[in-house]
Amino acid sequence: MGIFAIFASHMSLVTLHNKQFKPYILADVIHERVSQVAGNLSADLKNSFPLFVVVLNGSFIFAADLVKMLKFPCEISFVKLSSYEGTGSTGKVHEIIGLTETTENRTVVIIEDIVDTGTTLEKLHDLLKHKGAEQIKTATLLFKPMAYKKTIPVDYICMEIPNDFVVGYGLDYNGLGRNLKDIYVLA
Ligand code: 5GP
Repeated sequence: MGIFAIFASHMSLVTLHNKQFKPYILADVIHERVSQVAGNLSADLKNSFPLFVVVLNGSFIFAADLVKMLKFPCEISFVKLSSYEGTGSTGKVHEIIGLTETTENRTVVIIEDIVDTGTTLEKLHDLLKHKGAEQIKTATLLFKPMAYKKTIPVDYICMEIPNDFVVGYGLDYNGLGRNLKDIYVLA
C-alpha cells in the first residue's frame, strides 16, 4: 500500500457523491503491472486459443489494456454480473448478460477488475465449468487477500491491496469514478 501512496502524494483528492477519495495507484504503475500479467498470460496460453471472459462493468478498462498487449489468437467475450451496492458487498451475485460463445473443451480465462470475497469469481467459475470448459484460469487487476473467502486459485494478479474501497480505472462508487485513469482509495 505504501509505495502506491507515496508515488501519488502530489495529486489531489476527488469527490464522488458524498465521499472523498485520495490517489492510491498511479496509471504508470498500473500499466507496468498489467504488462507483466500480459507477459505471463502470453507465455502460458499462446498456443491454447483461449476465450477471455470479461466481467463487466468494472473490468472494461483493464481488459481493454490487457488484451491489446496479447499478440496471440484469442476470443474475448463479456458477462455482466453485480454483487455490490454502495461500499459493501451484498453477498448476492446476479448474472445479467450471459455467455453466447462456445466454452466446451476450451481454455477460458476470467478477467475480473477486483476479487474481494470471491463470490463473483466462484459463481462464474461454476457457470463455466457447467458449460464444459476444459481449463479455467482467473486473472484480476486487484486482489484483496484478506477478504478472500473462496478456494479457487487466482492465477494472475496485477496488484494485491488491503481491504480498502477503491475507485478509478474502471471501478466506480455508485456509478462515478470509472473514468479516472489512476486508482483512488477512500480518504
Ligand atoms: P466479490 O464477489 O469478490 O466479493 O466482489 C467482486 C466485485 O465487487 C468486483 O467485481 C467489484 O465490482 C466489486 N468490488 C469489490 N471491491 C471493490 C472496491 O474496492 N471498489 C469497487 N469500486 N468495487 C469493488
